[in-house]
Amino acid sequence: MVGSTALKASFVNRSDLKSLRQELEYLRAELQDDICARLEVVTGRQIAAGAKVDLAEWRALSSKGSGQELEALFKDLERVEAALLRMADGSYGTCPECGEEIELNRLRGDPAALFCIACVGQLQRKVAQS
Ligand SMILES: [Zn+2]
Repeated sequence: MVGSTALKASFVNRSDLKSLRQELEYLRAELQDDICARLEVVTGRQIAAGAKVDLAEWRALSSKGSGQELEALFKDLERVEAALLRMADGSYGTCPECGEEIELNRLRGDPAALFCIACVGQLQRKVAQS
């Protein structure tokens, strides 16, 4: 830790990446468990713990009447999976919109964040206008 009073924004280094990956893996496991439990209720089928998530298949099952809550969980899971993929290919922590590094504090708050704060603000304004 370099001192919390530093004014300069800090970006992700190797050890941060490790803890962020752990956080993402934890989130993924939680979401999978949550989705699993809900799907079992919806489908009446037993779903093995730690079953590999086939999003397309699960989504088809969930569309049988589970509603938006599950859809939201799927979306979260997709964000988390996408972040883990970016970690694997080395693009994690870089904003695809502007190419700048994303601040560590932002990623600590939301390890699956794709865009930097500035770009996410712009994108939200665009969505709000359309
Ligand atoms: Zn950006």
